[in-house]
Amino acid sequence: MESFMKRQKLILIGNGMAGVRTLEELLKLDAAQYDITVFGAEPHPNYNRIMLSPVLSQEKSVEDIILNDLVWYASNGIRLLMGRKVTRIDRARRLVIADDGSETPYDRLILATGSSPFVIPVPGSTLPGVITFRDIADVDAMLAASRSYRHAVVIGGGLLGLEAANGLAKQGMDVTVVHLLDTLMERQLDVPAANLLKASLEARGLSFEMKAQTEAILGDERVTAVRFRDGREIPADLVVMAVGIRPNIELAKASGLHCERGIVVNDTMQTFDPRIWAVGECVQHRGECYGLVAPLFEQARVAANHLAHHGTAYYEGSVTSTKLKVTGIDLFSAGRFTEAEGDETLVVQDSAAGVYKKLVVRDNKIEGAVLYGDTLDGSWYFQLMREGTSIADFRKSVLFGQHDLGDAGHGDEKTRVMALPDGAEICGCNGVCKGEIVDAIVKKGLFTLDDVRAHTKASSSCGSCTGLVEALLASTVGDGYDVAPSKKPLCGCTTHSHDEIIHAIRDHELKSMTAVREFLEWKNPDGCHVCRPALNYYLLVRWPDDYADDKQSRFINERAHGNIQKDGTYSVVPRMFGGLCTPDELRAIADVAEKYNAKEVKVTGGQRIDLFGIRKEDLPAMWNDLSAAGMVSGHAYGKALRTCKTCVGSQWCRFGTQDSTALGVKLEELTWGSWMPHKFKMAVSGCPRNCAEATIKDFGVVCVDSGYELHVGGNGGIKVRVTDLLAKVETEAETLEYCGAFVQLYREEAHYLERTAPWIERVGLSYVKGRLLDSAEERRALYERFKHSQLYAQIDPWKQRAEGYDAAEFTPIRLAG
Ligand SMILES: Cc1cc2nc3c(=O)[nH]c(=O)nc-3n(C[C@H](O)[C@H](O)[C@H](O)COP(=O)(O)OP(=O)(O)OC[C@H]3O[C@@H](n4cnc5c(N)ncnc54)[C@H](O)[C@@H]3O)c2cc1C
Ligand code: SF4
Repeated sequence: MESFMKRQKLILIGNGMAGVRTLEELLKLDAAQYDITVFGAEPHPNYNRIMLSPVLSQEKSVEDIILNDLVWYASNGIRLLMGRKVTRIDRARRLVIADDGSETPYDRLILATGSSPFVIPVPGSTLPGVITFRDIADVDAMLAASRSYRHAVVIGGGLLGLEAANGLAKQGMDVTVVHLLDTLMERQLDVPAANLLKASLEARGLSFEMKAQTEAILGDERVTAVRFRDGREIPADLVVMAVGIRPNIELAKASGLHCERGIVVNDTMQTFDPRIWAVGECVQHRGECYGLVAPLFEQARVAANHLAHHGTAYYEGSVTSTKLKVTGIDLFSAGRFTEAEGDETLVVQDSAAGVYKKLVVRDNKIEGAVLYGDTLDGSWYFQLMREGTSIADFRKSVLFGQHDLGDAGHGDEKTRVMALPDGAEICGCNGVCKGEIVDAIVKKGLFTLDDVRAHTKASSSCGSCTGLVEALLASTVGDGYDVAPSKKPLCGCTTHSHDEIIHAIRDHELKSMTAVREFLEWKNPDGCHVCRPALNYYLLVRWPDDYADDKQSRFINERAHGNIQKDGTYSVVPRMFGGLCTPDELRAIADVAEKYNAKEVKVTGGQRIDLFGIRKEDLPAMWNDLSAAGMVSGHAYGKALRTCKTCVGSQWCRFGTQDSTALGVKLEELTWGSWMPHKFKMAVSGCPRNCAEATIKDFGVVCVDSGYELHVGGNGGIKVRVTDLLAKVETEAETLEYCGAFVQLYREEAHYLERTAPWIERVGLSYVKGRLLDSAEERRALYERFKHSQLYAQIDPWKQRAEGYDAAEFTPIRLAG
């Protein structure tokens, strides 16, 4: 029997993600039991292999992806032998023999040798310039080739091939992806999603050779071309083979361990030799070999549990999901996505917006999911799928996501992620749930993303859940997160904060997104879905005369100038200035409601009429009719001025002190059409009874006998906030000036997607008062800048589109299911 009193010798062969994760888990359970030695064939400490793609596209450096630096090994007493390959295991003598001839004894051994890329054995496959995509050395070779050569050919249109192709294209190479089948990523995507992906990659400059079989790689001293079976040849200075992987089992096999496709293990991750465990891609468990980290990390937990003699954990196999790490392409796939007999499919497709969602359902349970363009609900579908939850009760709306709150202002990522149940999985790679993250933030006093990564591992592998983790952090810590020691960059593409970017645009007269990204040395030259809309807004506000709005950087509702509804149709809300409307306008609204089959007509809280259930392709014609009747867009869909609600005021009400309706009309006429950091609502009440609820608006006026009280920063949404009193003025003209100046200050200085309430809480009411009340000159200048920008903003987008502008946007949405 082994003595547990003296430290046993544990050897890990393979210093990669699964092996080192096993050690981490073991150290958590029992740090004192073993003397640990690690053999790693690569000359690096453990790094995040998943992140090789961002290193290739130069969004990250090698240093950024090191998971355990040399200090970690030293401080845990682990002997690390880098660049040392194990060539033989002598199981009888319990020795590990390395390529330098050394022999190291073990009591227990972990095999985590990973896998090797498969190289198609065609003539020329060993030529210089033909490489694979597996480790840092491969990335170095690709980057070096990209500096000297032009034509790259990537063989394999799967996950890895496309990430390699994208990275090489970003280095300026002409890249052709060669794929044997007629659709990309056929193991993860169905045909419509694969087509969207291909179109998006083509738009980024990649070329494709589909259904093409490589017959030979040509060249003398180095590769020069690739020849296909049909005889065609394409030029190639670099060929990257990304056609699959094979578990590294040779070492295990030679030592007599039972191997099939991989090293065969039981549910405790033990091989046929009870002293030897195996984890990672080299393993075959219940007939399956895995090539993604989430299952390997589960295996690591189980192996560690047994190495620590707890003996309570079992690995029973994993269901996996996939995401592609190409910046700007959102793609999620899980489970069985091709329908079989007896399955049903639920599909939403909006080709113009590049959104496709498909769920394969059987007996009201999700069997598989493919999402393209909008993947926020991927983890929810994945969870429903894994837990076999019946979707019968919410089947009609399941495609619209877990928290379809309808309004973009309320349905942002922060709100949606906070509304998830505690058990919802946030980080798929490491299997970390929302409850665990929130608990760690609260109990351990975490303030930064790095803290959360260090304590929970969430967001530390492929990084695609970073936005969700940040949203949890922001919601849990609130203001504390904003004032955390390291400033918060706008997004992962930059180290600069919103304020730094706003100031740089102003001070250095940066007038295009490219200029901003270049000047501020963006890590990712194309930006991402977070920074693009923000930059577009900041430029639009600062340079109304020079900057042309980039519609691709806007959210779908703003691109379509309507609110997309649960069933894929749109709602149309014509503007009714101050809530007023003539009989002719009412007639026109009734006519269009009938003509375009509005499914419902509803009076909104903002005192106008909402027409629901309009098909996207009917929008331009409907707008044309409304335009002919003199009506303009209500911007009910935008980060823009929404409404000015009014009461009847002195004209009709016996309590009224001023003509609140007329003032409301004037305020709305001044401000309509203006783009804002977020939606912006106004109201005017004719007396302090406040029937128009002016004290929960972004800008509210309460009329009194002696004039007008001006209120700012109210909110009637999720978190109700009563306004602060800004000033009291005597005339309508002053009210208009203060309103315009306040709006402009908010537009110029608030962060994109920040409502007036949090903005005022952040900068302080006294700051806002100082800017608007201390100097009449400055107030007037703000007002003038606002009026000037309105020259460009008060162009009715509906009329424009009715006249044919941007017609391609209005292609049909197909809804099946
Ligand atoms: C470019 C790229 C992108 C990826 N993207 C994703 C992704 O988005 N999501 C995801 O889940 N997975 C992704 N993966 C897969 C993921 O990286 C692997 O599943 C994971 O790294 C496998 O871990 P492992 O420890 O089994 O093998 P590895 O990380 O490969 O580690 C094995 C180590 O063992 C060493 N070794 C082998 N034989 C010996 C020996 N005889 N002696 C000493 N050392 C030896 C190897 O050199 C290697 O360092 C990606 C992989 C690549 C290459
Ligand atoms: S707010 Fe005053 S003026 Fe306006 S309707 Fe109500 S009571 Fe009348």
